[in-house]
Amino acid sequence: MFGFFKKQRRARLRARSASNEWHEILRRNLPLFSRLPPKDQQELLGHVQVFLAEKNFEGCGGLRLTEEIKVTIAAQACVLLLHRETDYYPQLVSILVYPSGYIAPRQHAVSEHVWEEGDDSLLGHTQQRLDTVVLAWDAAKHGAAHPADGQNLVLHEFAHQLDFEDSRTDGAPLLGTGAEYRAWARIMSREFAQLRAAEESGAPSVFDTYGASNPAEFFAVVTEAFFEKPHAVRAKHPQLYAVLAKFFQQDPVRYSAEADAD
Ligand SMILES: [Zn+2]
Repeated sequence: MFGFFKKQRRARLRARSASNEWHEILRRNLPLFSRLPPKDQQELLGHVQVFLAEKNFEGCGGLRLTEEIKVTIAAQACVLLLHRETDYYPQLVSILVYPSGYIAPRQHAVSEHVWEEGDDSLLGHTQQRLDTVVLAWDAAKHGAAHPADGQNLVLHEFAHQLDFEDSRTDGAPLLGTGAEYRAWARIMSREFAQLRAAEESGAPSVFDTYGASNPAEFFAVVTEAFFEKPHAVRAKHPQLYAVLAKFFQQDPVRYSAEADAD
């Protein structure tokens, strides 16, 4: 019964109409939004309603939370949910937002339980317990404003969240069937090995070599590229593109800003 009421509540939230303020924020901060088909825009706004109602945002390091911050982050996170059956990142409770690249509160706690993103300053991370995502607002805003540079902190962090939905941090999200898991494993391990080789030889790759760190980072990095450089990914890694298109139920080649950026 709980599931039934949750579904009802979410359906009511999704049916709420978005304010002009939201439209203005998304038009200004998230160029991707305006490129989506109108039906997808509506779906995304509905997901944002649920996301904002269910997740707790906290401003850290002196950051005063605004509607702009919450909507810009939530909308990017919800791009990964479009067209799919979703439970809205069920294990995620809080999004902690710092003004800019933040200092990890306890370096020694950053072990195998925490993924750090970035080099000198930490831009964001997801804890393995999954209940918290930590983001730097300047990086989240920059990622949204540059939809074709292949880098997007929010997509990256929430790809980790999807990876963990099956409670394993192995670079594979929840998939439907055994056959899908096998196809995923076959294609992803081959592509991961390729990126590792590229990193060693210095050969160019569509993917950031940060993805060569481990399979979890690989999934997060290819997710960024899938949405931001879909033409290049499809041309150079067609099988990987196909497997991601099937999982995300999206074909970003249709709406990405990549072609305009060339
Ligand atoms: Zn990561």
